[in-house]
Amino acid sequence: MKNEIQKKIEQLALDRTIPFCMNCYIKVPTGTCPCCHSDDLAHWMDGVGLDWNLNFAIEYILQDELTPIDTEEAFEDMIRSCYPEETVVGWMKFDTCDLMKSQDPISWRIARDEYIDELTSDEQIVTFDNDSTYYWVHDLESLLE
Ligand SMILES: [Zn+2]
Repeated sequence: MKNEIQKKIEQLALDRTIPFCMNCYIKVPTGTCPCCHSDDLAHWMDGVGLDWNLNFAIEYILQDELTPIDTEEAFEDMIRSCYPEETVVGWMKFDTCDLMKSQDPISWRIARDEYIDELTSDEQIVTFDNDSTYYWVHDLESLLE
């Protein structure tokens, strides 16, 4: 599934960039340079950049058009939907999430990371940069439709 999305993003990046001849330093919308007849072309994106590799364009499209997931917030939302909002300790009432985070931040972090791994293997979220940024698959699908 990730490969499929990756391919579609690459296609989108191709569609949004213009082939560029590095030898002659000109844009070559036709795909073959009229000057040197090369079809070994780089990718130009107006106002964004120029590179042999499409990654810069993919990165730009993702950043520009999607909101990365705030993993902490997503995890907290899930926890809030599973547990009572407030927890009573003795005569005191605490916000359940705040209490958990402050009392055992390590356990909180481990559970959060497991939750993110689970969403990833369920293919609900996806990362293209080794776990530093995640996107909802349904957001990506609407971008790629
Ligand atoms: Zn050329």
